Amino acid sequence: MSVLLSTFAERIVHWQLDHGRQHLPWQHTTDPYRIWLSEIMLQQTQVSTVLGYYERFLNRFPTVQDLAAAEQDEVMPYWAGLGYYARARNLHKCAQVVQNQYQGRFPTQSQVLATLPGIGPSTAAAIAAFSVGERAPIMDGNVKRVFCRYFGIYGATHLRATEKQLWDLAHQAVALAPADLNMSAYTQGQMDLGAQVCSRGQPACERCPLQTGCFALEHHVQTELPTPKPRLKQAERSCQMLIWQQGNRILVEQRPDTGIWGGMLSLPQFDTPAQLEQFMLGQGTPVSSAQKMAEFTHVFSHFKLHITPWWIQAPAALYEPKPDELWLDSQQIATAALPAPVTKILEGILATGLWD
Ligand code: SF4
Repeated sequence: MSVLLSTFAERIVHWQLDHGRQHLPWQHTTDPYRIWLSEIMLQQTQVSTVLGYYERFLNRFPTVQDLAAAEQDEVMPYWAGLGYYARARNLHKCAQVVQNQYQGRFPTQSQVLATLPGIGPSTAAAIAAFSVGERAPIMDGNVKRVFCRYFGIYGATHLRATEKQLWDLAHQAVALAPADLNMSAYTQGQMDLGAQVCSRGQPACERCPLQTGCFALEHHVQTELPTPKPRLKQAERSCQMLIWQQGNRILVEQRPDTGIWGGMLSLPQFDTPAQLEQFMLGQGTPVSSAQKMAEFTHVFSHFKLHITPWWIQAPAALYEPKPDELWLDSQQIATAALPAPVTKILEGILATGLWD
């Protein structure tokens, strides 16, 4: 095993320098703030999606001080559409901790980084490796796949025993590598290899620098590794969303900070049609005056939400917004902190030409 381990990191470095990604906007900087932002955005999100968000975010919040000084409401629109909104709330919280406890100087040591909100051990190691070359190994989803296949590690990767085995190997790979190992290229290389070569489904082993000694290639078990997580039946929920249009404005409400779409703006939402009907009757408007639109499903990581939108135009009774509600006009869709399915509904309404 130690023979396989001793050349592991170097082979990845050589491959990364020749074939890996070199021109992503967060590469070639050692600014931990910029690296941190890219790492958080890239969690559960593809590079192609992150590119536009990253640039817009940095234009508005070029330094950690700018981010810390902003209100959370100002930050959310720059995240809207990326999903996993707890990340955006933690991002903001983390900037404030850096500002208050570290005098606005972003830490670069992995052990310190891992104590900050929203930064796990793998993200902490990546920031430390990219910013100061710390010899700290990473272990994200892509890297787990490479390690499981190369070293022949069985067992679902969310299990503590499997995860410990993977982290131990990751530490050994760094410990056995030469003292002058290019940590930035090694870290990026593992990410690139997992995303571009040792991908899910059928990996491109013919292009892989780890062919020699790869357990999965040798035993033809690439599709068996990593061991899949046992499939649980995904929970399903449904809700009714109300598009309450008054003139050229549509009612939205601020969601509580916790729970799905925490802190974002959304359409008034009801668990059942009966609750929606009750609300509308309370406004002196029968539900029959609303147009029921086609149901669609939004998939979260842990459940499916079936959404039925109801659209009512120019109700006779004028609605007075409560403190957590406000009116949105059509110009504000692009900049408001709306979750993706709400943007989709409102863009559908815009397309009818009956909201301008
Ligand atoms: S040889 Fe194939 S299975 Fe093994 S690490 Fe490379 S791409 Fe993955």
